[in-house]
Amino acid sequence: MTNKCTKYEALFTFADEKTFQEHLATCKDCQAEDAKMNAVSELIKEVRPHYLKHKKDMAKLKIACAVFAMCLSATTLGVINFNTDISDTIKYGTTLTAEDLGFPVDAYGFVMVE
Ligand SMILES: [Zn+2]
Repeated sequence: MTNKCTKYEALFTFADEKTFQEHLATCKDCQAEDAKMNAVSELIKEVRPHYLKHKKDMAKLKIACAVFAMCLSATTLGVINFNTDISDTIKYGTTLTAEDLGFPVDAYGFVMVE
């Protein structure tokens, strides 16, 4: 059983380009390793634009969600603020009549004006 050359990583990382290329020219194991590394490198180059586009799209989606949430809460709060029946129901459990508010009313619940 022959031992596989394990110098590729060390040479690739620490040796200068000339030493690395010289070893690569003479060593079959490292040539195979180098081919694998180049394939991975090509793959990364190919995938990178797609990955960046995906990241951009996600950022746009997040902004759209935030804007939607702000519009929804602003609308909801606006409706509650300007529609007193809704805010009365939330605060007191029922809508308030003119009588509840302390105005003099007749038998039909209308405000009496003298
Ligand atoms: Zn080698």
